[in-house]
Amino acid sequence: MTAPPHKAHPAGPGRALPDTQQGMRRRNLARVMHTVSAEGPLSRAAVASRIGLTRAAVSTLVDELIRSGLLEELGPERPGRVGRPGSALAVSAGGPAGIGAEVGVDHLAVCAVDLRGRIRSRAVHHGSNRGRSPEPVLDELAGLVRRVVTESTAEGLWPAGLAVAVPGLVARDARTVVRAPNLDWQDTDLAPLLPLDVPLTVGNEANFGALAELWLGEGAPRDFLHVSAEIGIGAAVVVDGKLLRGTRGFAGELGHVPVRPDGPACACGGRGCLEQYAGEEAVLRAAGLEPGTDRVGVLAERAADGDEGVRRALREAGTALGIALTGAVNLLDPESVVLGGALAGLAPWLLPSLRDELARRTAGPACPVSVSELGSEGPLLGAAHSVVRAVLDDPAAVAERA
Ligand SMILES: [Zn+2]
Repeated sequence: MTAPPHKAHPAGPGRALPDTQQGMRRRNLARVMHTVSAEGPLSRAAVASRIGLTRAAVSTLVDELIRSGLLEELGPERPGRVGRPGSALAVSAGGPAGIGAEVGVDHLAVCAVDLRGRIRSRAVHHGSNRGRSPEPVLDELAGLVRRVVTESTAEGLWPAGLAVAVPGLVARDARTVVRAPNLDWQDTDLAPLLPLDVPLTVGNEANFGALAELWLGEGAPRDFLHVSAEIGIGAAVVVDGKLLRGTRGFAGELGHVPVRPDGPACACGGRGCLEQYAGEEAVLRAAGLEPGTDRVGVLAERAADGDEGVRRALREAGTALGIALTGAVNLLDPESVVLGGALAGLAPWLLPSLRDELARRTAGPACPVSVSELGSEGPLLGAAHSVVRAVLDDPAAVAERA
């Protein structure tokens, strides 16, 4: 995952404790938060038995989390139980919220997700961002963020962090866009352009899409390749429940894996890249359609109507995807390949040729290919949830900021 939107806070309330004890307290606070988040509502006794600490120790941790507004008591447990009734604990419906944002080639979107994972506010703006300089785009995005923050503040939430998904390569500093070819942005530090009083994390949209699949997807595997597309094609590699980021943070550039080494020139400097065959614009071109606003909608509609030109273009895009994915599948042996983003909407016409090509070329048994239920919402949800996960992972840091 991208760098969590918080730093270590050495001046916390328990700083008199020695380091090891302090570290233990932080870890135990996180274990309580994760347990209640995953299994709540739970009594203190139930939390204690789940994480193997005494009830007294858990009560101290729980009290601290309640004071910080991260947990809340829902009232007495149902009557009729033996012994003193405990109060059921749940993660707060108010308190910290994750703000997720997405800079798409054709839209901007922002949402606020509470600790329970519910979307509490959202704002979307449609309009092409291609060729616009970063300043006005991020100015508009900041306006949407302010609107969402104002709405969620009215509901008792406060922004714990802002995570922004972008269609491009992001440096390890998690704020600089190194290259976003379809926006035509290069080496742009987004932090000064988003003057918001919220910790900022910038990440690649395919990575956030994969994290959303991992955290929110129904029965998501621990090892998978997540492929997503808008204008470009990105992928993310999840190994043992973690994102593989690569040395510079650039792992997953599936769109620039060559399908035909002597094919057409690509903006990356190479030739015959996957994007030249399966990117939205390439598919439109192959189908003889003009690039409009709702490209995927138009393709899906024509394909459903039986337009043979469109179906052929999608079949060929599926074949190109299968060829490009063969290398990754043979190298990494993932449990499955998940299609997300815009591709999810075209799956009925892409999948047969993609599966055939992949099965024909992989050394072992065919790798299953499935379609994400999150569709094009994945990157935005993944961004917001990455902030929520950071709160669960280190509640002490957030409590100190609250
Ligand atoms: Zn390329």
